[in-house]
Amino acid sequence: MNACCTIPVNQIAADQHKEGGECCLIEQTPAPPRANCPVSKTDSRKINMRTLEHLLQPAAVNEMQNGQYYYCDDPTCDVVYFSEQALPHFTKDDLTVKVFHKETGDDVNVCYCFDWTRGRIKEQIRSTGKSTASLEIARLVRDQKCTCDITNPKGRCCLGDVNSVIKEVKQQLNL
Ligand SMILES: [Zn+2]
Repeated sequence: MNACCTIPVNQIAADQHKEGGECCLIEQTPAPPRANCPVSKTDSRKINMRTLEHLLQPAAVNEMQNGQYYYCDDPTCDVVYFSEQALPHFTKDDLTVKVFHKETGDDVNVCYCFDWTRGRIKEQIRSTGKSTASLEIARLVRDQKCTCDITNPKGRCCLGDVNSVIKEVKQQLNL
């Protein structure tokens, strides 16, 4: 059982379930925890190889090399994954999914495990005045149903992003 599962569901929903800054399933590797994106210079966190293996197009998976990869979350930068030891860098087009931090459309997933897109969150708030997304996701996280280490391009929990989208939409609608 991982650390997420022992804390109350509303704390998970508020994205307060990161133990030691590393939620759930980040691999322990000797590489530095952060590195700068070679294109945007963005300070970036390391990412599991299995996240890349799951989310890259097959041709890109073939080009993966051994080495520690990092995830660039800069919205203006096309690089998604890079490594300081290995080339090539992988960009948005190399992934099979749209990357939340780099695409603004309503069809883009915020939560990749349970299919909450920006549009689905907006629609729910428009019709009911609130969103149940964080609480629903938190319950599933607690029940160990989430697989964000392989489904979310950033390789970790989506709840921080879900909460910021909910806040943004509510502000837009003056709720
Ligand atoms: Zn970058």
